[in-house]
Amino acid sequence: MEKLDQRYLYLMGFIGAALVSLYGGLYEDLWYIWLGGIIVALIFVFITFPHVWMYSFWFAGMYALCIFGGIMIFALGRENTLILIGGIAVEIGAYYVMYVIWWKTIKLRDSSADEYYTPLGLWSIALMSFFLISNLSVLTWSQWAIESRTIMRYVFSEGVLILLLGYLLWVPETFSWEPLIVPMIQGEEKIMTAVPVEDICSVCGTEFKMERGFCPSCGSPRVFRWCPVCEQYSFRCENCKEFNLVGEKKCRSCKTALPEGVHCRSCGEITHLDKWKIEKVTRS
Ligand SMILES: [Zn+2]
Ligand SMILES: [Zn+2]
Ligand SMILES: [Zn+2]
Repeated sequence: MEKLDQRYLYLMGFIGAALVSLYGGLYEDLWYIWLGGIIVALIFVFITFPHVWMYSFWFAGMYALCIFGGIMIFALGRENTLILIGGIAVEIGAYYVMYVIWWKTIKLRDSSADEYYTPLGLWSIALMSFFLISNLSVLTWSQWAIESRTIMRYVFSEGVLILLLGYLLWVPETFSWEPLIVPMIQGEEKIMTAVPVEDICSVCGTEFKMERGFCPSCGSPRVFRWCPVCEQYSFRCENCKEFNLVGEKKCRSCKTALPEGVHCRSCGEITHLDKWKIEKVTRS
């Protein structure tokens, strides 16, 4: 529980430092606040997102391309068609970076999934919004610079971008909390316990060793839980989520018939355990 609270505090630290930097960036003589804010925000990125901090470079790249493309389109391209076309090309590059972030996150999610996937619908919408608001931000900035309109729109869109970035990094970071994240998806409060109940063999009470298996028919990864005392793998009943050792015919909890193999969520195939390629994973 303590660890989880700390994570939220660090996240607030990142958002706070980024907002301070945004404020400093508005005034020429406050450049040291702008720079200091960026440095502190980066330090918080490393602390808050120890597994996915490198994603922030992808986001920075996407943002920079949106800025360059936006300036070329909205400001310089007004009189020059060639610059306008160049700006559109840069925007396509930014779109590609967004696609790379999306693809990497899906892969990361899949490699930490078991019977339950973290849904990424809302996260994908947030990613699209980040792309769109980055462009909107350039538009409001160029309006401010060229037509001396109000700066508030620019400050507002940048503030939204900072909040979005916090969320966009937070979600993939939670994948490395597995299996802590699983009870959270189910809306249970078990996430607050030091050793998650979900991570314990329902036969002998021993903590599982986490491994990762690859589907023999489609190659998708899924989580395998090995009980070192029962010396057997354990899988969730897809009806009631209770763990059952391999070989059991009916769920110990709800008596639903269990499949005679391992179910792949990606392709739907149920294949015998022996056919899965299994590797050990070190949990962080
Ligand atoms: Zn056991
Ligand atoms: Zn069951
Ligand atoms: Zn499969």
